Amino acid sequence: MESLESELAAARELEIGALADAIESIGFECTRCGGCCTGYAPDEPGGAPVDEPGGKATGATDDEATVSDESPSSDPEAGDDPEPHTATVFPDEVRELVKAAESTHEETAESTHEEAATVAYDWRDVARPMPYGLSEGPDGQPVGETFEWALATDDCGDCTFYEESDGQGACTVHDARPLICQTYPFSVALGGTSQPMGEAVDAEGMVRAHECEGLGRDISREDAEAVAAALKERAVRELEEAIGVRDAYDPTAADRADSDLVVFDSEGPKRHDGEPVDG
Ligand code: SF4
Repeated sequence: MESLESELAAARELEIGALADAIESIGFECTRCGGCCTGYAPDEPGGAPVDEPGGKATGATDDEATVSDESPSSDPEAGDDPEPHTATVFPDEVRELVKAAESTHEETAESTHEEAATVAYDWRDVARPMPYGLSEGPDGQPVGETFEWALATDDCGDCTFYEESDGQGACTVHDARPLICQTYPFSVALGGTSQPMGEAVDAEGMVRAHECEGLGRDISREDAEAVAAALKERAVRELEEAIGVRDAYDPTAADRADSDLVVFDSEGPKRHDGEPVDG
């Protein structure tokens, strides 16, 4: 396997025009099924929500589509419970989402003439430790070491920013949604980058397409170029982050942390609330 550094160099060389050509060739239009913002059944690699196997007419609107970027469990013993939505979010994106969530709350309060009380969101409202590699502690909370953050989920396993009303789904932080959400269902064929929802189901040049009922539909050149630009940015950011995580890893951090859980991201070891271990 190529080094992360060489993959990063290749990501920086990606041509947005060529990526857009590939995206146009594959085709994509969001059908608002909601499959990529919500939890999903263990045996459905990113398809429709578990309670409506054929999909439902809800979800992120149009260009609001997003993603679960890790493969769900394929454990046949897992039953029919939906797996929580699991999408990587970078540390700076978490901070942007905190601000966006606060703005959204204030705007909603104003538009509904409710008392526009300022609500302070914090890191834990937006992100949770990536669950992989963690175990359950005596109090039921996750313990151990993990890498990176995932978007926070609600009791149903859906992204906390996903809302449905009158049969329509939407992202409540659309303008601040992470790169992973801006680029679903696409990835690039470079090692060290994320491959949403398991194996690719289509490929063109450097672009891979993953399970999504909106694939194969016409996309405008303008939209294809916007997705392509975000896809390149995501590949570069993912590789920069992976290099940062590797370089910041410190096996002694858990001893210093006043916590049974340590999350390593490119900024160093953090507690579950996003506070640095050595802060
Ligand atoms: S942040 Fe928005 S687009 Fe991304 S998963 Fe959540 S609801 Fe969907």
